[in-house]
Formats: sequence, structure tokens, C-alpha cells
Amino acid sequence: MVLKKESFFRSNGNSPMLIAGPCSAESYEQVLETSRELAAIPGLFGLRAGIWKPRTRPGSFEGIGEQSLPWLIEAGNELGLPVAAEVAKTEHVEACLKAGVSILWIGARTTVNPIYVQELAEAMRGADVNVLVKNPIHPEINLWIGALERFEQVGIQSIGAVHRGYFSLAASPYRNEAGWELAVELRERVPEVPILCDPSHIAGKRALVPEVCQIALDLGLDGLMVEAHNNPERALSDADQQLTPKRLKEVIASLTIRDQINGNILVSNELQKLRAQIDEVDHELIQIVAKRLEIIREIANEKDKHNLAIFQLKRWMEIVETRKQAANESKLSSSMIHELFRVIHKNALEEQVRILNKRNSD
Ligand code: PEP
Ligand code: MN
Repeated sequence: MVLKKESFFRSNGNSPMLIAGPCSAESYEQVLETSRELAAIPGLFGLRAGIWKPRTRPGSFEGIGEQSLPWLIEAGNELGLPVAAEVAKTEHVEACLKAGVSILWIGARTTVNPIYVQELAEAMRGADVNVLVKNPIHPEINLWIGALERFEQVGIQSIGAVHRGYFSLAASPYRNEAGWELAVELRERVPEVPILCDPSHIAGKRALVPEVCQIALDLGLDGLMVEAHNNPERALSDADQQLTPKRLKEVIASLTIRDQINGNILVSNELQKLRAQIDEVDHELIQIVAKRLEIIREIANEKDKHNLAIFQLKRWMEIVETRKQAANESKLSSSMIHELFRVIHKNALEEQVRILNKRNSD
């Protein structure tokens, strides 16, 4: 992607870039009171509020709509800060641009659909506006990157991403599965795009928001978009996860801000030594994987000789069980080892298929 070097989304000083505000704009008083209280947070970057809310079931509070836009604009003007709202269709974009909203965000339920995203991008063509794209509901990085590219293609210069976790059926203390590896992969694939974390939708519960904020910073994400409400318990949407502005101020002050080092500059001798050890261990690991693959090739020959199927369920189950047991004995996470062997085994099967196919076609 080709973006302006000086992004609009950049931290001002030592604190992470923070955009905060209610899940939904509910009333003039709620928006203004919340923003006035948020003003006490040093380095606050911008204000957010949902104007149109994409709710899972009909009958839930779906936002006040266009009528609430002037409240958000007034709050922003009062604090001298940019404001952010979610847009999900052309009319939303038009209303926001007309009102003077300077950050338009694309919600997770919209990022999943390239036709909607393209329509929104077209509605912004030539506009002087900044865009944040939330990850799609499911962890598909290409959809996320595709959406970022669609905004780049219509000439939006300041584009950021928001990591808000994923829908998952797995039991977890969080509302969304964090899936941090996707944010890390996004950083790798489009390093020029600033990434914010939305800890509110990941955590789903007030008490868990601070730890999610800290993980995001530890991973080197650029900022946070956090839901805050002057009276969270009475919020009309996402009541469980919103913080009071006062609490958010404490949370932000308690975060450890870590340095990002670009390149391999020497930080400490100790770190340098430990990294050398890791390099060595990884090298050995690769040699071992190569050795394992050599054996796999011989196994392919044997199976061919005896006309055996490549995949043997009983053997695979035995491998999983014994490796998980060994993991436990070595105090390693058995699910991590299971995942690792799934990758190794997938590669082993592919190699055997390749060998046997080649033999058949010779
Ligand atoms: C929101 O930010 O209020 C929201 C609806 O988020 P998401 O699209 O991440 O669910
Ligand atoms: Mn919300």
C-alpha cells in the first residue's frame, strides 16, 4: 500500500493514541457529559460514538441515527478533537462528511463484505477524511487487507486498522477471541498501516479491559479505541464492557509503555546473548525437522511397497497422544504441541502424496 508518510493516526507523545467514547450516542447529555469527563485524560486523541448500530437481533437499540451526529460534532469542537463514527452504507458516509466527522470507521460486520466496502470507498472518493478498518468478524487477514486497499485505491491517505478480535464458539473469559497473531501478521504484511486495538470488544467485560490494553501495547500496537460511557451500567448497548471516563483515565495511566526497536540495535549485552542462543536453538530445530522429513521419505517408500494408505488414523492418534503427554512432562502447553505436530504432520502427508504421485506418473 502507498500511504502518506505522516499518518493522521499517530501517537502524540509518550502515551498510546487513544480514541474513546460511548459504544452508542444515546442522548445529547450522555455524549457531552462523557466527552467532558474524557477530556481529563492526557493525550486523548479523538472521540468516538456509534450513530448507527449494527445489532445482532432486531429490537435492540440500533442507535439514534443522523439526529445524534451534531452531538458528537459539538463534543469534538468543544474539546478541539477529531471525532469518529461507524459507517455501514453510502448514506452514513454522506451524512458524516456533511456534518464534519473526520474519522470514519468500518465495523467488523461490514469488513466481511467486499461489495459494501467498495461502495463505502466510492462514497469517500476524493474526500478529505481518515478511515479505520476493523478486522472482519472471522479471522481472514486477506479480507482485512483487501478492505484497507479499497480505501487506498480511492485516494484515502490516512488509513488505520483496528484489531477487535474474532467471533468464536470456544469458551473464553473474553467476548471475542483475541487472535493476536492476526494483528501481528497484519503488521508484517502492511507495516505502513497503524494498528489500534479495541480492547472493549475483545474483553467484553469492564474488568478485563485493562489487561487487553496492556497486551496490545506489549505487542507494539499503535493505539487504542476504547468504549467509555458516563453511566456504563445504564448504557443502551454494550453495557458490560464500557468504562467510566474516570476509570479509563486510571487504566491509561497504569499502562506500561514499551519501546519499539526498529532493526537490531544493541539494547543490552544480555539480550544480545540470549538472542544468539535462540538463533542456535532455531537452527537445530530446523535440522531436526529436515531429518524428520528424510525419514518420512523412506516411510513413503515402505508404504508404497506394501500398498498402504498414506494417512493412517490410528498412527496419527498415537502420535498426538504421546506427543501431548511428552509436552506435559516437559511443562509445555499440550495444545501448542498438538498444533505444532498438526503442521509437521500436514507437511509429512503432502511430501508422501508428492512422492507417490510422482511414482505413479513415472
Ligand atoms: C463498535 O465499535 O461499537 C462496534 C460495533 O464494533 P465492531 O464492529 O468491532 O463489533
Ligand atoms: Mn460497542
